[in-house]
Amino acid sequence: MELKANYRMSSSLKIGIDLGGTKTEIIVLDKSGQALLRRRVATPAEDYAAIFATIAELVQTAERDLGARASVGVGAPGAISAVFGGLKNSNTTCLNGRPLKQDLERLLAREIRLANDANCFALSEAVDGAGAGAEVVFGVILGTGVGGGIVAGGKIIEGANAIAGEWGHNRLPSADAAELPGPLCYCGRHGCVETWLSGPGLARDHVAHGGAVMTAQAVAAAALAGEPVA
Ligand SMILES: [Zn+2]
Repeated sequence: MELKANYRMSSSLKIGIDLGGTKTEIIVLDKSGQALLRRRVATPAEDYAAIFATIAELVQTAERDLGARASVGVGAPGAISAVFGGLKNSNTTCLNGRPLKQDLERLLAREIRLANDANCFALSEAVDGAGAGAEVVFGVILGTGVGGGIVAGGKIIEGANAIAGEWGHNRLPSADAAELPGPLCYCGRHGCVETWLSGPGLARDHVAHGGAVMTAQAVAAAALAGEPVA
């Protein structure tokens, strides 16, 4: 309630939404970049309407709690198609073909900035993170999918198809002959980098090598504990 008094009249708050395949997170920053609020919920990954509703509710609840309206930016898996304005190439496949930006703009009654999550990450690292001062920065996200973004001279390179820096759907170069052609990817190809290095890919590969069915986090923890299959 203290926050409410302080920020009631403020129009300088920034909301950032990190839409992931597993979790959706909101952060609210004040004009000095200080985090005022941060919340994380599970992503209803199979259901576009539910994802849309989750983001809208996170924004509306945060604004109610802080008593102020904010600008909203969303980092999402996938790219915005220059052809139809909707999302494409998203590993959260129910988002593909959907006009998430336009739908959110209509419901929240403001401009929404939506960009590829790996591009947001790469730019953030290039500005004041691990890549600060470097001319070219390649940022990699390993999560539900395998994403990437490339920044040159402080600017994101989008590319003609808005997929510059995306390396997840190239074939894993070092797969064993016995592992080829590799698992089928949602993109239609076999053996994409994403089918090995993502969380689900790691869990699947663990089973393929005789391990138990478990999450990628559990596989990583087992590997650290010296479990040989992991
Ligand atoms: Zn693929």
